[in-house]
Amino acid sequence: MFEGPVQDLIDELGRLPGIGPKSAQRIAFHLLAADRADIQRLQDALQKIKDGVRFCEVCGTVSEKERCRVCADPRRDPTVLCVVEEPKDVLAVERTGEFNGRYHVLGGALDPLAGVGPDALRIRELLARLGGTGPASDETGITEVIIATDPNTEGEATASYLVRLLREFPGLTITRLASGLPMGGDLEFADELTLGRALSGRRALD
Ligand code: ZN
Repeated sequence: MFEGPVQDLIDELGRLPGIGPKSAQRIAFHLLAADRADIQRLQDALQKIKDGVRFCEVCGTVSEKERCRVCADPRRDPTVLCVVEEPKDVLAVERTGEFNGRYHVLGGALDPLAGVGPDALRIRELLARLGGTGPASDETGITEVIIATDPNTEGEATASYLVRLLREFPGLTITRLASGLPMGGDLEFADELTLGRALSGRRALD
């Protein structure tokens, strides 16, 4: 244990996901030795995530403007939606270069044990988009929804729940990523090739 500000910093860093006590200590001492300018940049970046980041009004991913780059891009196919859990999953799918549609970010997955029910997710917003009453006026003819929730228990539960709701939309094709993704993992940990294959080999659910 160290004293004062150094220990405070180690404690705060240790709260971050994936950072154990040893890493927290290493990062803290790295910062201690860093230039004032570097620290300032880090400080600014941290500040900006609370002041400058908002969520796209259409898909819910993190965005600098009212609409994210994908939703604002007229070249992206507005008839295909890829439903993911988190903004980081949008990046994972984008990295594959296999998808030219748009996204819908749920903001998590159903997890009754942790108290995350359907109302905590952006499911109402998804239904509004499918019903043609979402904020984007060009999204009046969504024909396919790809459910790309994580390949783990919560992701599967969320997918089944969504399928039940989406069946109410006549003529809508509902697809799920092909198998081959490591079970129990996060979408973001799948490599581009595997995720790209899962996407292009997606299967229709009925
Ligand atoms: Zn968007």
